[in-house]
Amino acid sequence: MGGDLGVPDTPVALEHSGAQVTIDLAALVANWQDLQSRFSGGTCGATIKANAYGLGLAPIVKALGAAGCRTFFVALPQEGLLARTAAPEADIYVLNGLFMDQAEFYATNRLTPVLATQDEFEEWAQYAERTNQRLPAAIHVDTGMNRLGLKSDVFHRLIENQGLMTQIEPSLVMSHLACADTPDHAMNREQLARFKAVCSALPGIPASLCNSAGIFLGSDFHFDIARPGIALYGGEAVAGIANPMKPVVSVKARVLQTRIVRSGESVGYGAAQTADRDMKVATLSCGYADGYTRLAGSSDQRRGAKAFVAGKAVPLIGRVSMDMIAVDVTDIPDNLCQRGSMVELFGENIAVDDVARACDTIGYELLTGIGARAHRHYKPYIAEKVV
Ligand SMILES: *Cc1c(COP(=O)(O)O)cnc(C)c1O
Repeated sequence: MGGDLGVPDTPVALEHSGAQVTIDLAALVANWQDLQSRFSGGTCGATIKANAYGLGLAPIVKALGAAGCRTFFVALPQEGLLARTAAPEADIYVLNGLFMDQAEFYATNRLTPVLATQDEFEEWAQYAERTNQRLPAAIHVDTGMNRLGLKSDVFHRLIENQGLMTQIEPSLVMSHLACADTPDHAMNREQLARFKAVCSALPGIPASLCNSAGIFLGSDFHFDIARPGIALYGGEAVAGIANPMKPVVSVKARVLQTRIVRSGESVGYGAAQTADRDMKVATLSCGYADGYTRLAGSSDQRRGAKAFVAGKAVPLIGRVSMDMIAVDVTDIPDNLCQRGSMVELFGENIAVDDVARACDTIGYELLTGIGARAHRHYKPYIAEKVV
């Protein structure tokens, strides 16, 4: 990494790449503004962990920062450093907490750890004491996820510990919903009730409960700061409703050749799928090494994902190889799908979540998996002048 952080040192030339990823920063900003308008709490932040869900941390942070986003959530201290470089003034929270012996790294880069164990509390407080300062921290309380976070008895014990709290200045109290994508799930209300009890023990401290799906649960769930990720990037946050977000990412793959496959012949490794009629097949230069998962593949037993070309959805045929896939383009005129044409794997016409469903996975996994050897193009967001 170097130069413009998040953009590879050696940009992959379009004409030399198999896959082409387009990231629409104006659509990203529109999604952030849309979520901000749905969020009654006040501050809509942005979750940018995992290289901003595979889209490129620095360009995403810079576009959101230009639009007015001031609060970012990363998973790792390493990501925090990249975010700090891209957003010198922002609040940056490290969701995976304080890593062992790294207090100085966090403090130097003004990364706020999301403290989730007594050990993390003590380490942060000890570092603050050694360096004669009071340091900000977020406090993560577990309300049912059972992944990270303080159990409520430990939480109460810690915030009543004067010694610790003279060194630690809580800037946020947070918890994470396990089932927000399923609005009717009983666990949502249970977690809400527990979180309210937590917040009442820390009056005046900003609170945060919502990921993307949480914002759609309604204002009861909102509190002060939201932490959306997937919805910013155009993915589906809530199951079973039409996705209101704009698509941000499109992945296209280059056609290497088309060929006629006769009825009864098979396509690809394992001869997994047999043509049930004479068909025209396009071989595309994109495979699982580019993040297009093998789970998208098709066989005689199970139909795979679809791609899109010349106004039509076209089914994959056969397995996904490391560097290639094949699609059935029998119904597409030759001149619209030939050597050098680009076929959309997901984007504006084929929703990333539809591909994910065909793969028994979620859009998050497809986005975060987008490979490094693809050509990336960022459609710019032009910030409105602030007067
Ligand atoms: C990943 C994550 C988010 C963002 O979740 P989305 O479902 O992508 O909106 C928010 N909070 C925490 C703690 C997370 O781990």
